[in-house]
Amino acid sequence: MGARSAQEIWEAALGELQVQVTRSYYRTWLEKTTGLSYQDNRFIIGAPNTFVAEYLDKNQRSLIEKTLIGLTGPDIRVSFRVGPEPAAPAVSRPRHSLKYTFDSFVVSDSNRLAYAAAMSVAENPGRSYNPLFLYGGVGLGKTHLMQAIYQAARTNDFRALYVSAEQFTNEFVTAVREKSTEEFRTRFRSVDILLIDDIQFISGKEQTEESFFHTFNELHNAHRQIVLASDRPPKSISRLGDRLCSRFEWGLIADIQPPDFDTRLAILQAKAEQEKANVPIEVLEFIANRIQENIRELEGSLHRAIAYARLFRALLTPELAARALEDIASKGAKRAPLTPELVIATVANSFQLTPDDLKSRKRDRLTAQARQVAMYLLKEATTCSLAQIGLELGHRDHSTVVHASRKIAVDMDNDPYLRRKVLDIEQGLNLKPGPRGY
Ligand code: ADP
Ligand code: MG
Repeated sequence: MGARSAQEIWEAALGELQVQVTRSYYRTWLEKTTGLSYQDNRFIIGAPNTFVAEYLDKNQRSLIEKTLIGLTGPDIRVSFRVGPEPAAPAVSRPRHSLKYTFDSFVVSDSNRLAYAAAMSVAENPGRSYNPLFLYGGVGLGKTHLMQAIYQAARTNDFRALYVSAEQFTNEFVTAVREKSTEEFRTRFRSVDILLIDDIQFISGKEQTEESFFHTFNELHNAHRQIVLASDRPPKSISRLGDRLCSRFEWGLIADIQPPDFDTRLAILQAKAEQEKANVPIEVLEFIANRIQENIRELEGSLHRAIAYARLFRALLTPELAARALEDIASKGAKRAPLTPELVIATVANSFQLTPDDLKSRKRDRLTAQARQVAMYLLKEATTCSLAQIGLELGHRDHSTVVHASRKIAVDMDNDPYLRRKVLDIEQGLNLKPGPRGY
């Protein structure tokens, strides 16, 4: 295979690796790598310098080989070499150009308050909410918003400083060791906006907490803006000293919730557009259904599906996307909880209908059957009550649900096609084979 193929394969591998490692790890070690060549089962990966090449060789060979095996063949041997970054990659590499700006942030009910507060402190640092404390689960956009504040503030000529709590800790420890605490103080106290990401990591490190406590007070007294992000609210950060905890609650605490289906879809649409990839809406819906809790995974899945389609020069269909994402789920990625929304959307998709069709009054054979399958699965596989299932599917009463489930169970015994279809849906939903042992 030629060089272009090696690069294409590597793109697909990167898409998968991106989902498996943290963003900072990805940035540090993988982002600037390239697929240099693939010949006789030897895959050569280009790294920007010897340091990265050696690090990957020592630490990530097996993960990388495992990832490549899924894309090439079982006998792959990987080696690393310092190699050029592609000047103009054949395949666009969106993750490098993704910008964490307010413009690229999709706003919805799940993050509206956090977004509005972030905008406000970027425009009027120290004047509105101080500190602004953002919290929410992994991959829901906290860092994105922090970076957006940082950039907007810089554009408005404010002095802004963004660090992770880890970096803050490291710098503090270094400063103590090298007796340069004065410079450390000055650096952190001479800004208009101080942003500290993943602040939960500061807890339990007494000296660092102490130092941050003073920094906080000084900035706050001087009406400088402090923005903090954490994966949980201040009160839930264990081992965080009371003094800091109460200060974190002085200003505004804004949470970011997991996005609903429409928001996930909107985010995917925006990312596909950024990537200049023409992705059919069914594929976006499929991915939005599949990944529910983490926007980074949502993006990673989209990248992977696109890379797959390019790699195999195939049309990107929901089936291809399912194939591209297969091993991700089986590698133990956290499974999305089975919500009625997910079941209904998956069933609808499999019958080439929409969730609204299933909720509608339509009574044609196909729609009616799809609706019954959804009722059957909701009853079998979720904890929803019959009343709730009826409600989810267009305000039908519980006897309709009972009848539908029985009918589908019987029909499946007599109709192999239907049985296959339900099984496919169950697999798509990551359900175990049903109780009837098919
Ligand atoms: P966190 O810091 O909360 O773990 P990140 O800010 O790193 O999450 O977000 C993970 C990925 O999801 C990033 O690529 C980010 O751009 C994207 N993302 C998160 N929320 C949104 C959103 N509302 N609109 C667009 N992209 C988003
Ligand atoms: Mg983050």
